[in-house]
Order: sequence, then structure tokens, then C-alpha cells
Amino acid sequence: MTMINGDWVMARVAELAKLSDEEGRLTRLFLSPAHQRGCAQVGDWMRAAGMHVRQDAIANVIGRYEGHGPHAPALIIGSHIDTVRDAGWYDGNLGVILGIAAVRRLHETGTHFPFAIEVIAFGDEENLRFPTSLLGSCALAGKLTPGELDAKDVSGISVREELMRWGLDPNSLADAARPKTDALAYIEVHIEQGPVLDRADLPLGIVTAINGATRWRVTLTGMAGHAGTVPMTMRQDALAGFAEITLAVEALGNSVPGLVATVGQVSARPGAANVIAGQVLFTIDTRHSDDDIRRTALDQLDGLLKDIASRRQLILAVERYYDAPAAPCDRHLQKAWADSLIRLGITVHHLASGAGHDAMALAGHWPMAMLFVRCDKGISHNPRESILAADADLALSVLCDFISHFDLAELDRDS
Ligand SMILES: [Zn+2]
Repeated sequence: MTMINGDWVMARVAELAKLSDEEGRLTRLFLSPAHQRGCAQVGDWMRAAGMHVRQDAIANVIGRYEGHGPHAPALIIGSHIDTVRDAGWYDGNLGVILGIAAVRRLHETGTHFPFAIEVIAFGDEENLRFPTSLLGSCALAGKLTPGELDAKDVSGISVREELMRWGLDPNSLADAARPKTDALAYIEVHIEQGPVLDRADLPLGIVTAINGATRWRVTLTGMAGHAGTVPMTMRQDALAGFAEITLAVEALGNSVPGLVATVGQVSARPGAANVIAGQVLFTIDTRHSDDDIRRTALDQLDGLLKDIASRRQLILAVERYYDAPAAPCDRHLQKAWADSLIRLGITVHHLASGAGHDAMALAGHWPMAMLFVRCDKGISHNPRESILAADADLALSVLCDFISHFDLAELDRDS
């Protein structure tokens, strides 16, 4: 019998990290050759763990471990195997491998439950190659429209063409959608991708919600002019206005507990040392686990921007180009994570997810829950991303405990 533990998981993560579209660093873009090899590798591990493996129309790899009888509704354990460019090894991949490891433990002892277990490896979580996002998990939740498959990458290849090249049938996309009755819950284990657990010296954290997020594109227009001749009192300096706004955004983020507010992208025009900036374009990203708090903060921000612009005689234009509601994690499932942590003697800590995840797409379709694993210094989307084998081992133990105590009656009461 193979020893399925944290080291087993770490070895598979390292193995999967070899499958890259770029030499010498990990880049596995959605529907790329490396993604295709990744799907095959994950499928092999799933089969070895006693699962029946198939690939749906959007290239999700689905491993199914039957329950006591056929057609039992499933507990779905998922995450993604696409990566960012020059990625870390653990983002997404860890959650898929932990799911396979948990099932393999069950398989080796011949343990089955009244429910089936499905492990799913999604693609297109990282929103990198195509101007799309979460195609894999959205397809599962039936939220994907065929038109989205026409999205093209920089070389003009569409999702649809690439799926056909893989031998998949984009026209059977509807088959990838899973009715609610197919599953009891969706759970995902993921690295935190932030420093909270590491700072608190805790290996694992229970996610309360995936933060809702709003992004604005702001254009601030003043008057370009000669940096030498226009007196200070007669300027409409868009860049100085921008600076004041940036500090106001930061102050707002500091004043509301749990709120994060970021000016992340900026360009100033015309952009010369001897010219007063006539126009500045920038983005503001705000996130919170509570949609009402985020909306109140956005209203406040809107007022601040208008005040600053009018006082400085600048023209303000705000375009909301992204708006995603918060995805709260199911409270019964959060309690079930907590019970598992307590049984294993691990400190219970709750935190919101600042980053988006596949679980977002599935929230509302099934009860959803996430468990975070500490990553070193919170570093992620970076080749320096790392976790401890001991933490992988704890995460696996918690996942196995969670599965073996997964209570159908409890979920029934909730619905
Ligand atoms: Zn991820």
C-alpha cells in the first residue's frame, strides 16, 4: 500500500509543475499543450485512485469515485490546473492533488460512502490566455453561453477552435452543465495567496466568503500646460488630482475593516517632465466579503472623487468595468471544516478570500466551502510560492476527516 501523505502530495505537485508551456518556468495556459499534458497526468492519478475519469466539453477533467450505489449525488472537490505566467506550483494544482490523494486513501481501504466523490480539475481560472474567466467552473454551473467560446487569444485562436483541436465537442457544452441534483456540495482547498495565516502562524484557515469586487476605470482630465510658465495657482493638474485621489482611496481602505482598495494601474498624458499632466487614466479595485459594506464604501468613494475633481477643476469620468458579488461560503460546511480541525487538534481560524476562485462560479449552484492552506510569506503568482509538506499533510487529514463526517442530513436540513 502506498503511503498517501503530505510528501506524496508534494511529490505530485512537483511532478505536475514540470508540465509547462515555457522552458525553465511554470506557465500552463488554458487549452495549451502543457494543459493537455496536465489533464492526462491528472487523469492517470485519478484512475490510480480508483476513479472513473472523463473530460467534459470545456476540458474539465472529472474523476468519479462511486458511492454505495451508482448515480449517488456527489461531493465535488475541485480546483484548477491552469497557471499564470512564471507561476508558483501550488496555486490550484494543490487542491486538485489533495482531492485525488483523499480519494486514493479511501480507495486503498475500500471505503465508500452513501455519496459519490468527484474530483475536478478546471481550466481557465487564471484569466490569462483568453479574455474569459472561469470557463471550466462556469460551464459546470450552467452559466456559460456558447458565444463565450468565440473569445480569441492574441494569436487569433478561439476557445472553440482549440477545444475542437483537442477532439472535444464545443456544441455539447450543455452536457458539461451539471444539474443541482448531481451534487451535494462543492469544496475547494487552495493556498491562501496572502500573508494572514503565515503571520498568525496557523497552517489552515476556513474561508468565510470570497470577496465581492468592483473595478473602476477613471479618467481625470485637466489642462496640459508648460511646466515652467503656468503659475501654481492657475493649474488644472490631473496628476496632482490623481495623487490626492490615490491617498483618499488608501485612507478609505484603512478606515473600513475588511475593505481593500487599490489603485493598481495608471498612465499620465502627455507624460513629459516639462509638461503639466492634462489627463490621467487609472483603475480602482475595491473588495469586501460583505456586498453592502462594499457598496457603501463605493458611494463614499464616488463622493470623494467628485469633491477632489471639482475643487481642482478637473473633469471626472468613472466607468465600472467589473463587478462581482461576494460568494459566501455555506455556514454548515464551514462548521464541518471547524469540526474536522478541532478533532485533529488544529486551531480554528476564519478568513475571507481576497482572491477569486472557481468556487465563486459554483456558489449558489451548490453549497460551497473553501479551506485555505498557509503559503510562505503569502507569496503567490510567483515562482517563489511555497508551502510546508507538514501543512499539505494536515490539509489532507482535514479533507479526509471532512469527507468521512460529511453529513447528508445536515445539508438536507439546510436546503
Ligand atoms: Zn488559484
